[in-house]
Amino acid sequence: MELPFAESWRIKMVEPIKKSTREEREKWMKEADYNLFQLRSEQVYIDCLTDSGTGAMSDRQWAAVMMGDESYAGSSSFFHLKETINKITGFEYVIPTHQGRAAENVLFSHLVKAGSVVPGNSHFDTTKGHIESRKATALDCTIDEAKDTQLEIPFKGNVDPKKLEKALAEHHENVPFIIVTITNNTAGGQPVSMQNLREVRAIADKYGKRVVLDSARFAENAYFIKTREEGYADKTIKEIALEMFSLADGMTMSAKKDGIVNMGGFIATRHEDWYEGAKRFCIPFEGYLTYGGMNGRDMEALAVGLDENTEFDNLETRIHQVEFLAGLLDEYGIPYQRPVGGHAIFVDADKVLTKVPKEEFPAQTLAIELYLEAGVRGCEIGYILADRDPVTRENRFGGLDLLRLCVARRVYTDNHMRVIAAALKNVFDRRNEITRGVEIVWESELMRHFTVKLRKL
Ligand SMILES: *Cc1c(COP(=O)(O)O)cnc(C)c1O
Repeated sequence: MELPFAESWRIKMVEPIKKSTREEREKWMKEADYNLFQLRSEQVYIDCLTDSGTGAMSDRQWAAVMMGDESYAGSSSFFHLKETINKITGFEYVIPTHQGRAAENVLFSHLVKAGSVVPGNSHFDTTKGHIESRKATALDCTIDEAKDTQLEIPFKGNVDPKKLEKALAEHHENVPFIIVTITNNTAGGQPVSMQNLREVRAIADKYGKRVVLDSARFAENAYFIKTREEGYADKTIKEIALEMFSLADGMTMSAKKDGIVNMGGFIATRHEDWYEGAKRFCIPFEGYLTYGGMNGRDMEALAVGLDENTEFDNLETRIHQVEFLAGLLDEYGIPYQRPVGGHAIFVDADKVLTKVPKEEFPAQTLAIELYLEAGVRGCEIGYILADRDPVTRENRFGGLDLLRLCVARRVYTDNHMRVIAAALKNVFDRRNEITRGVEIVWESELMRHFTVKLRKL
């Protein structure tokens, strides 16, 4: 008989996690004002809040930690990291930063001015924040298909070349660069095809513009290219990654995702002028150029993490687990953004809690119900996260209302996935009895989801 699929690693160290009773969770949820960010981690059984900085490092990474060189300047750990990045991306210049948003802050301080227009595919919220806070515009040119959660296409994160062409025709004088997010986090961890990166390159060249890859999940993107795009099945992940980066001019990276470290990031580019420009902002914001906000030991662990996570087996194990969870939801008929992406499942809460009015935040209600059911913590990516319209101060109900369940890298087993799916099924089975949601008691003006206080109706 055919052998079943199994993980490409075995476990050398374990971290106990604790179950709780529904009664305890009711109390904790109330104390946290029905905001899952306000829970203490020990009140959570299975944590699907984010895949950022939550991965498990390998034995090789922990061994590398011991080799960290903490010299202020010229640390050998920096050079190990730089050489690894040179090899994987082909980019010569590297600036470490303490995480992804810091890379954006340093690079954009050099490139983005008031009145700039930065087109791309669904800019991540910190990326958008760093553009808009400079009085510039983040122009979303994602394909329309990304909005239809039930449509199955292989590269749902793509840039729409027509929208991009139009953006450049109209705004090229104010465009400092184009940014492509791989994978497209906001659209549900959806990949961007090599063909699409080529189309973006061609449009950029036509207008003499440069391209930045927001690369937090570039390795997962390369995995999808290998398994879904014609002509790539026989290429290695490293070959595919190199080809992806060859179509760009630089990158910002949150190493907390595909670098499989708990903290870290970097900028890399092939252009000396970008490096020279960004350098001036690295020193005051992050630190000296050979550490930029990272410890020597973390740079060592990141160098190993990047090398390991651009190997097929590691990525296959990861994506397989996310697909395993998605398969269970299919079995139970629970609607989510299809096809499942690389790092998370986005449950379509509007289609589950149809009796809960928009004004009472269905996705947040579903997140609360799932936590009360089994101690599983997800994250609302919906109407609360969307904040209010800056002009009218009305809630923005125009987008999708999703419950995101992130899968941490190399942390949970498939049995944990079974628990998540079963808990969600139990909530799903009594969806018609859930008729009321939550109301906001207190909120901050920006990024309210982190600190919002809610009341159950
Ligand atoms: C996480 C993320 C960032 C920001 O990185 P941090 O390390 O959280 O600061 C930027 N872009 C994308 C696509 C991300 O997923």
